[in-house]
Amino acid sequence: MASGVHSAVEIIAKKQQGLALSRDEINWFAKSSALGTIPDYQISAFLMAVYFRGMNLQETRDLVEAMIGTGKVLSLASIRDVKVDKHSTGGVGDKISLIVGPLVASVGVRVPMVSGRALGHTGGTLDKLESIPGFRANISAAAFERIVRDVGIAIIGQTDEIAPADRKMYALRDVTSTIVCPPLIVGSILSKKIASGTDAVVLDVKMGRGAFMKTTGEASSLARLLARVAAALGMKTSSIITRMDEPLGYCVGNAIEVREAVEVLKGKWVSDLVEVSLALGSEMLLLAGKARTRREARTLLVTALVGGKGLQKFREMVRAQGGDVRAIDDPCRLPQPRATVRLLGRTDGYLSEIDALEVGKIALTLGAGRMRSEDEVDHAAGIQFLVKRGDRVRRGDPIALLYARDRRTAARSSALLRGAIRVSRSRPKLRPVVVGKVTRAGIEDLRS
Ligand code: URA
Repeated sequence: MASGVHSAVEIIAKKQQGLALSRDEINWFAKSSALGTIPDYQISAFLMAVYFRGMNLQETRDLVEAMIGTGKVLSLASIRDVKVDKHSTGGVGDKISLIVGPLVASVGVRVPMVSGRALGHTGGTLDKLESIPGFRANISAAAFERIVRDVGIAIIGQTDEIAPADRKMYALRDVTSTIVCPPLIVGSILSKKIASGTDAVVLDVKMGRGAFMKTTGEASSLARLLARVAAALGMKTSSIITRMDEPLGYCVGNAIEVREAVEVLKGKWVSDLVEVSLALGSEMLLLAGKARTRREARTLLVTALVGGKGLQKFREMVRAQGGDVRAIDDPCRLPQPRATVRLLGRTDGYLSEIDALEVGKIALTLGAGRMRSEDEVDHAAGIQFLVKRGDRVRRGDPIALLYARDRRTAARSSALLRGAIRVSRSRPKLRPVVVGKVTRAGIEDLRS
């Protein structure tokens, strides 16, 4: 078909039949999606066809480039240093960006971060940040560059300027069950990362119950696809696989996750949050050339964390993006739930399972995410666990607090939450949250 003369129906039909799309067809579809010249139902049908039929390497690369081409590529020319971002493939209780971003920026690395919103049962960094009164994630490209240059870090979302096709497709994938599709994940992540002008990105590829990739094999093959396409487009990546069988940290929601991230930046050693942050942060420092070894990188980050430098950087970023920094010191200024219900233990034993997938879905029913693309997120909603896997629990003791806009919703979700946890007589075996770094040879154990 000649360039520019395409029909959405024909492109969808071609993909339905499992045929490879041309660069021109992919370009046209991405552009039409971003411009809104084709309706949502055709974009959804296209996403579903790709979900079932996949894309080959060339098509995936073309998709990334096409999605980048729907907006601008920021040059961030006024920032000379190496710029490094971080991105997660999606998790429950995943507030790592709020910790590692400021922490890495506090040791002198420039972090231009383009993040996403809640997707499926997983949370989104932007929704969390927007629970801080006044915080603006939709600043202009010029403001983004200025804040990254002057403060060291800014966190924004896709805009009309940066990969607008991703904004459209991301929202539709969320509500059409087409999230778990490697070429669409690669298109989504790399388009916004490359368009943001970063030089390198560290990928937190999640695996397990609450992740989109359930096994180490699936996670490493996604990591390899991300690395191959990124390298072909001139961007360095490094992928760390981390476990997502139970939620990260104790909190799942928006405002409560900001509160928890701030507590970690204030020095609270929440082990899984700190371990993942240090593993990803060290990799960011290595890519930026700020450290020569992982050990050196880790020492720099721990010193910054303990010395409060990460917290100070978080404050500066929030202020620069219009947020009320008083909410950082006084969490009462963050959105507060109207109803709280406690989930009490029914037997004595050890908490042996917290099913991250179910917890993510329950957080959705509480209002912390979106059921439909037009839904408003309730920033105050969520779940706060009082114990973690492996901890002792006793009959009658509170296990979790559920926050919602009304008591009925919280009580209904509390019954569901009971089904998402398990208490056993013996203490469960704990596994390290960081699985390892994906290399050509396999998965490198970062503890060695
Ligand atoms: N994060 C993204 O930005 N996109 C995806 O598709 C999954 C995780």
